[in-house]
Amino acid sequence: MKIKYYGTGAGYGLPEVFCDCRICRHAREAGGKNIRTRSQAVLDGRLAIDLSVDTFHHSAFCGLDMRKIHHVLVTHNHHDHFFTTDLFSRVKNMTEPVHFYISEASGQGVRALVEKYEAEIAAGKRDPHAWTRAVVHTLEYFKPVKILDYTVTPLPARHGKGLDPMIFVIQSEEGNVLWGHDTGKFYPETAQWLKDSGIVFDFVSLDCTLRRGAQITPSHMDLDWCIEMAELLRCNGNADENTKFVLSHIGHLVDRTHDELAREAAEVGMIAAYDGMEIEFGRKKEKQK
Ligand SMILES: [Zn+2]
Ligand SMILES: [Zn+2]
Ligand SMILES: [Zn+2]
Repeated sequence: MKIKYYGTGAGYGLPEVFCDCRICRHAREAGGKNIRTRSQAVLDGRLAIDLSVDTFHHSAFCGLDMRKIHHVLVTHNHHDHFFTTDLFSRVKNMTEPVHFYISEASGQGVRALVEKYEAEIAAGKRDPHAWTRAVVHTLEYFKPVKILDYTVTPLPARHGKGLDPMIFVIQSEEGNVLWGHDTGKFYPETAQWLKDSGIVFDFVSLDCTLRRGAQITPSHMDLDWCIEMAELLRCNGNADENTKFVLSHIGHLVDRTHDELAREAAEVGMIAAYDGMEIEFGRKKEKQK
């Protein structure tokens, strides 16, 4: 399996537009891996996770071709993860719809829009060949669904109330992924489900939004909490020596430049993501070695 991170920033990207902190200044001066756009990743070139406000940027400048991706998992409806404005435009030659998988609470807005436009198309008021076609699938916690040849199980994320944010367990014959954004420390029921599942993850992506030791909100994590979650996964049999732990959703709050965070992460056997990072993992790759 392979995953590509297109956007590894937190809610406001890096540098933040009006900010003059050390991290934002460094990002402007040094560029490169210090520039972070909003959340988006693609698994095996065909299953996207999130459609953030920076999807346009990823399409225009980073080689992301959403015409080829028809399935999008959406963690929750915050603008840095789901930006529906890009979805409804007068596109041409879109023959296959894009499928979104999202919780009931986070999907309310997009579902209403899709229904409205589909009704207009059915009534002959809108050209079906000049409009974005989308299908919205409602996910429920702990209920697995089949998407392509993946089995995806959404679990409760600790990330505010009202949006039913989701952590995703993505299983395939070639490997297992745990996508943990946005979330604070795993809820006990999430950890318990993972333990009971017996799944050993090849790849785990964790929310590292906060400065180490400055746990100012329970809805995100710092490096210490990420280390704690990695330990929990190891203790519960969900991770082993081959599991890759990656940190993402990184903004200026983390108070580290990319190199500083990468060094600190490497000391504890983790990888700091950056925009454009691609990682291969899982069973197929092991066999090829
Ligand atoms: Zn976010
Ligand atoms: Zn800043
Ligand atoms: Zn969020």
